[in-house]
Amino acid sequence: MDEKRLSKRLARVRDLAVEHTESPRRLVDIGSDHAYLPIYMVLNQDVEAAIAGEVVQGPYDSSLRAVTANQLSDQIDVRLGDGLEVLKDFDDFNVMTICGMGGGVIASILEKGRDRLSGEETLVLQPNVEERSVRQWLATHSYEIIAEDLLDDAGKRYEIIVAQKAAREFPLSPKEVLAGPHLLKERSGLFLEKWQHEKEHLERVVQAIQTSGDSPQNQERLQMMKEQLALVTDILKEDGHEVE
Ligand code: SAM
Repeated sequence: MDEKRLSKRLARVRDLAVEHTESPRRLVDIGSDHAYLPIYMVLNQDVEAAIAGEVVQGPYDSSLRAVTANQLSDQIDVRLGDGLEVLKDFDDFNVMTICGMGGGVIASILEKGRDRLSGEETLVLQPNVEERSVRQWLATHSYEIIAEDLLDDAGKRYEIIVAQKAAREFPLSPKEVLAGPHLLKERSGLFLEKWQHEKEHLERVVQAIQTSGDSPQNQERLQMMKEQLALVTDILKEDGHEVE
């Protein structure tokens, strides 16, 4: 992958950002690493300008080099800093991407930088794991999840969550927090495969805890895992029948 040819995962992030944000688009990409996404989107005229934020010096330097090599310094501002701290009061953007990190990290970036969000921007979030932390944050702060995708890229499954601030609350059920409201409705083959895999994993964990003694800690963990398993079993049920 490079800035001229995105991975399947980042290409889908780009498509969703374009689909759900009105033109003219101005992008903020947090955790930009090599700035592949902002460079691609500017070169492709998807966005007229972008800010690439990065907290680690090495990836920040890579982003700067890539932006300079593509002669895009006028359109892409590369900034070093933690999460949304790189944003200034006068920054004008209408789409924000935070991709390729854990859902807990994404949720904490959003939480810490809450006052930098105008509520007018489309959020395109791609957690690698712990997707539920992202959905929980969105539901708690009155964001509506307007689209989701689950894809396989080079043998790894990724979820993408698109959200916009709403005028009312959009509470999610525990099942929706875990699996995603749109993904739950769509029930794609990949979705069923993912949750079947998770169910088998949880069954093995429950069995292992049950055979490793009944200390209070074990009992507590067992209870948690059983609740999780019940939720996943429920996700796999369609009209009351479990999918084979
Ligand atoms: N967004 C790109 C993608 O999806 O391919 C790069 C993903 S890379 C695995 C994650 C990047 O996020 C790393 O470069 C890391 O330094 C950066 N990162 C992690 N926490 C961050 C934070 N709080 N603020 C800004 N960048 C962060």
